[in-house]
Amino acid sequence: MENPFNAVMSMAKRRGYLWPSFEIYGGSAGFYDYGPLGVRLKENVLAEWRRCFLVGEGFLEIDTPMIAPEIVFEASGHLAEFTDFMVRCEQCKGSFRADHLLEGKVENADALGKEELGSALSEHGVKCPDCSGQVGAPYPFNLMFQTQIGPDSERRGYLRPETAQGIFLDFALLYRQARERLPFGVIQVGRGFRNEISPRQGLIRMREFNMAEAEVFIDPDSTEHSRFSEVADIEVPLVPNTGDTVTSTLGAAIESGMICNGNLAYFMARTYQFLTTVGLDPARLRFRQHLPDEMAHYAGDCWDAEALTGFGWVEIVGIADRSAYDLSAHRDRSGKDLTALRKYDQPVMVTKRVLVPDMRAIGRQFKGDAPRVSAAIKAVELADDDEVPDITVEINGAPTSVQGELFEVKEVTEKVTGERFVPRVVEPSFGVDRIVYTILEHNLRQEVREEQEGGDEDGEAFRVLGLPPRVAPFKFGLFPLVSKPELTTVAQEIDAMLKEHDILANYDESGSIGRRYARMDEVGTPYCITVDFDGLEDRSVTIRERDSRSQRRVPIDDLVDEARTLIK
Ligand code: AMP
Repeated sequence: MENPFNAVMSMAKRRGYLWPSFEIYGGSAGFYDYGPLGVRLKENVLAEWRRCFLVGEGFLEIDTPMIAPEIVFEASGHLAEFTDFMVRCEQCKGSFRADHLLEGKVENADALGKEELGSALSEHGVKCPDCSGQVGAPYPFNLMFQTQIGPDSERRGYLRPETAQGIFLDFALLYRQARERLPFGVIQVGRGFRNEISPRQGLIRMREFNMAEAEVFIDPDSTEHSRFSEVADIEVPLVPNTGDTVTSTLGAAIESGMICNGNLAYFMARTYQFLTTVGLDPARLRFRQHLPDEMAHYAGDCWDAEALTGFGWVEIVGIADRSAYDLSAHRDRSGKDLTALRKYDQPVMVTKRVLVPDMRAIGRQFKGDAPRVSAAIKAVELADDDEVPDITVEINGAPTSVQGELFEVKEVTEKVTGERFVPRVVEPSFGVDRIVYTILEHNLRQEVREEQEGGDEDGEAFRVLGLPPRVAPFKFGLFPLVSKPELTTVAQEIDAMLKEHDILANYDESGSIGRRYARMDEVGTPYCITVDFDGLEDRSVTIRERDSRSQRRVPIDDLVDEARTLIK
């Protein structure tokens, strides 16, 4: 069979799954259009994803803007850290990701730093892959697309490189929605944007892509997931960063300490179940742990679900322990409370020393600035024997000291119901396009059929896309055997009946029946319903199954129930 990527893309373009974007103007690398069938496949994959996380886990779904002001990414660390190392060819000026030029020469080149990459490039005598020219030294290139918000060019914004930040910014509101109880999860589906340096692998590396992310907020003290026993026996291939690949149950991997965090293991299991349900080949799936240097700036531990494709092993889902990094960063930058409460079994009485502002004196001295001064005084926290620190407030642009006569130190006893803390986050982050591509690649097969239904030529190689019914764009093809009014009338009646029950069939009456079956096989339609002359006598149709190519007769009156059962 030809190169898997070419085989998938030739079918995908011809049949309306995927098209390179902007093609009439010569195209632009890293952008794809989803055609009519591609949209259906993607939406079906997302429906299955929501079934897993929205329904199965009971997570909350939100939808936040794709553009955010600069401060968001300053705080999250993306402005400083969301970079790849790039090199330029000194001759043709082409640009390349430094680690990509070391593929096959150095293992895990994406975990190397700037200096190490530079040394490795010269050690291996790496030249420009396009013109064999000399490449320069690597330098960091920020992957975020910059834009401007409104007419004021000072108000810089960025297209989000992940959907996650929108969820973190809304944490306090979401915590309330979740009735102030941990753990809870929040999902978001939407576009992410990364100005990839040299996207050359189709849907694997795009500059605008579809993400489906879940952020699960947990108490850092809890290392276990309450439903882990449901998935402990699932066996998966694991590639830990300390050794060789092993196939192990997730329960055993937790016990041996290979996976340290029960929450990560739980979501690895759910990810495995989801990916195999939407049609990825379990034999071509594995989980690989990131090397310590490979981890994103926010991650404490990370296991990627990887799929074996024509491009080698490709990360399709990242399952990261983001620790309390993001919420702490946004809390520090915004000054807003992004904590959760760990309730005590019984409230406790706590005696502490606090500063009580003298509002009269403060009002006399600071007038309109008085509320800020009293807030600064109240914000001071004193441990048992602490001296009162210097308190300064910025008044009219100048730091102004707040003197001791403006407040009193008092001992108070309070009822405390719990302690506040910044939750830990576990994030399964799904690259939807990579999943869609892998589904196509793992399910496209070539079959040589000796006898063709409907009189096609013998021995022709047919492509069959073995999609699971749940994700197939069309569940049914619907045909009159030949284009004769007696048959088309009945077939159209059936089409209307199925539509009435929200079942979408692909009605087609043109060309030989063999060709119509072949077209449905190639786009992954699992069943075809055909109206023939026998069926006019006894009000029945044939249902042909894609994979076995067997046919059976079904009464038209039973068709809706039968169709529903088949889809499930
Ligand atoms: P990350 O936040 O880098 O772990 O990305 C999350 C997921 O998004 C990855 O597992 C990929 O499946 C997907 N992804 C990341 N970058 C791209 C890209 N440039 N094009 C398509 N998918 C991507």
